Amino acid sequence: MSQTNHKIGIIGSGPAGWTAAIYTSRANIDTTVFLGIQPGGQLTTTTEIENFPGFPEGIQGGDLMQNMQKQAERFGTKSVFSVIKSLENKSHEGKPKFTISDGSNNHEYNALIIASGASARYLGIPGEEKFVGKGYHSCATCDGFFYRGKTIAIVGGGDSAMEEANFLTKFADKVYLIHRSESFRASKIMLDRAKNNPKIEFVLNKKVIDFLGQEKVQGVTIEDTQNGEVTEIELSGVFVAIGHIPNSSFAQNQLTMDEVGYLTPQLRMPAEIRTSKYDTMSNVEGIFLAGDVEDKIYRQAITAAGHGCKAAMDLEKWLEE
Ligand code: FAD
Ligand code: NAP
Repeated sequence: MSQTNHKIGIIGSGPAGWTAAIYTSRANIDTTVFLGIQPGGQLTTTTEIENFPGFPEGIQGGDLMQNMQKQAERFGTKSVFSVIKSLENKSHEGKPKFTISDGSNNHEYNALIIASGASARYLGIPGEEKFVGKGYHSCATCDGFFYRGKTIAIVGGGDSAMEEANFLTKFADKVYLIHRSESFRASKIMLDRAKNNPKIEFVLNKKVIDFLGQEKVQGVTIEDTQNGEVTEIELSGVFVAIGHIPNSSFAQNQLTMDEVGYLTPQLRMPAEIRTSKYDTMSNVEGIFLAGDVEDKIYRQAITAAGHGCKAAMDLEKWLEE
């Protein structure tokens, strides 16, 4: 099948990136996906996905992402294992041209889709870096296995914390779920599952303020968020599930973003500053946005995939024009 003359780059290989690639490469547009540091994206850090339509028995996150990649490659999508560090807009006299770079190699495209998702947030306690991987983790799927028969904790009150707490009970004898308040962002079904798990003990209105131990975590110091009381819990490991930070630093000073770093598509721009009819376009003509990097509300695999589809269709129409 012959391809159009247009070359496009997609930054990110999560559900948004691969879905966009399926659409653009199937439309015969020369498409390259930049995989980034986490090929397959966030779903590769989890186990069973129960809410992605089409899989009545559920599907493993890693399998779902491999399927998406294979589907895009079937239509000719190429992939490059590199992390984009900068983006330069070299468009001139209405001719769009963008250079993206991983620090060593430059790549030029007529248009871009940014689908770089989000990365795990850590607690921000002074000195926490030295414990990362030594009893302090952000990926239960990756590191839960090491805590067979141990007592551990997970910090957070969202769906990730509930899901990971349940998952960790496959290995650990006891999991403390430490949350800084009594209200949860988690959906009711996920919260109830965790509450009904006899190995999980909820520790509410508490925040972790320090780690105990020298080389490895041996416990945590927690502070009551209501009365300031400080206590300690002995444990072997701490997992954080306190949300993610959008991966948009490479686009700083180029693309409009909010104070946290979520990129702003035309759809969310006030009418007076909106410059394009394409909802998924950024403030820069020819750069489109998709998935968690621009969505701080829904942040689901299916919505990211849907955004990828929309961005690809907008890009196709825009290229035709
Ligand atoms: P991501 O999946 O975050 O992928 C981003 C991609 O961009 C990655 O490939 C990364 O390597 C790449 N990247 C980042 N920076 C760069 C760069 N500078 N250069 C090149 N590439 C870059 N949602 C559900 O619907 N159901 C679930 O059951 C579910 N479970 C979850 C469990 C966990 C533990 C987590 C953390 C999330 C879960 N989610 C779930 C949410 C879901 O994973 C996300 O909404 C979805 O993955 C977002 O897709 P995305 O393509 O926007 O970004
Ligand atoms: P989230 O919904 O943003 O929840 C983050 C949690 O961490 C909140 O409880 C928050 O507390 C807490 N938190 C944030 N910063 C903290 C800090 N510095 N110290 C202590 N606690 C802190 O994030 P998420 O759970 O990762 O979920 C992200 C998205 O993925 C959501 O849309 C979710 O539905 C989706 N997801 C879905 C599934 C599923 O459907 N199976 C599974 C996992 C994730 P406050 O509430 O007090 O701010």
